[in-house]
Amino acid sequence: MQFPALVPYGWNGRWAALFSSLDLGGRATDPARPAPAPGRVVRHDGTGLLVVLPDRVRSVPCRRSVDPPPTVGDWVVVADGAVGAVLDRTSLLTRRAAGVDAPQPLAANVDLVLVACGLDRPVKAGRIDRTIALAWDAGAVPLVVLTKADLSPDAAARADEVQAAHPGIDVVATSATTGDGIDELRCAIHDRTVVLIGESGAGKSSLTNALAAGEVAATGAVRSGDAKGRHTTSARQAHVLPGGGVLIDTPGLRAVGLWADTDAVAATFPDIDGLAAGCRFNDCRHDREPGCAVLAAVDADALAAERLAAWRALEREAAALARRADPHEQKQWGRQFSRMAKEAQRRKGRP
Ligand code: GDP
Ligand code: ZN
Repeated sequence: MQFPALVPYGWNGRWAALFSSLDLGGRATDPARPAPAPGRVVRHDGTGLLVVLPDRVRSVPCRRSVDPPPTVGDWVVVADGAVGAVLDRTSLLTRRAAGVDAPQPLAANVDLVLVACGLDRPVKAGRIDRTIALAWDAGAVPLVVLTKADLSPDAAARADEVQAAHPGIDVVATSATTGDGIDELRCAIHDRTVVLIGESGAGKSSLTNALAAGEVAATGAVRSGDAKGRHTTSARQAHVLPGGGVLIDTPGLRAVGLWADTDAVAATFPDIDGLAAGCRFNDCRHDREPGCAVLAAVDADALAAERLAAWRALEREAAALARRADPHEQKQWGRQFSRMAKEAQRRKGRP
């Protein structure tokens, strides 16, 4: 099925095949009812879904029974005036909702996660690591974008540093002011769906405007002194980029809550993961174990101690999350805890 209006939004053979394989209960051939149509969710503002359809952009309600609930970036099927199905996702970007232990979907079918860091402030390696883990966990590829390159006297050197600190990750330095690096970023995006993640004031709105070659997002002036921007982007929204690709805007994410598993953490630290293959024990924690190749690399100055510390922090966080999220594990922990409590009681009772 051909839907030329959907192509700029990323419609391709995959979606066409999924759409035509759906069992639409003969609806597609019933002349008395409008044919079901595919569309992409470009905005989700709490009350409704704005969906790009083959003939128009329209606000569409969603049937309660639709599982999973659609999010921005999803390809959906609209039938009888409502979203009736969500096509199988290629990726789902998720973060831990602020303050609670629950995953919050941010965007679906994202190919590339742009990790935005402003060169007008110190680059936070830990923050980059956790966003990279988030991207790998989603099924997307991370790319670090160092914004405000015009404010740094040595942007290229700092890009090299960041590149060295995060092996295997591409780094692009850009300036929304001078336009430097914007074409390079456009090439990296090509026709893919991207999402920009970075703290408030990182230059996400300015970058969105530079990529979209128009004023689509309001930019906020950074308060002088602390280099923190005002929260200006309010709703998640997908924009078609003139050179190809789709950019999904997320509200300024101040704290990126990790929602990723330990595999994603391993993918974030390919250097440590590679070294770990040489550890004597399969389940080496690279802590005090004999024959630990990771500790040996730190001793030999082949791996920065900070890098190992960063891995440890993220690994611990992901493991804790897995324990809390897995009811079986919770039970195990509950049992272990009550055993420990009983043991303590018993000891107390001893003279
Ligand atoms: P957001 O909160 O991540 O969307 O950040 P904004 O795009 O609103 O940018 C925050 C501040 O940084 C604004 O005052 C922008 O004008 C400024 N800014 C953004 N990009 C650049 C840049 O490339 N060069 C310079 N000099 N300033 C920038
Ligand atoms: Zn080890």
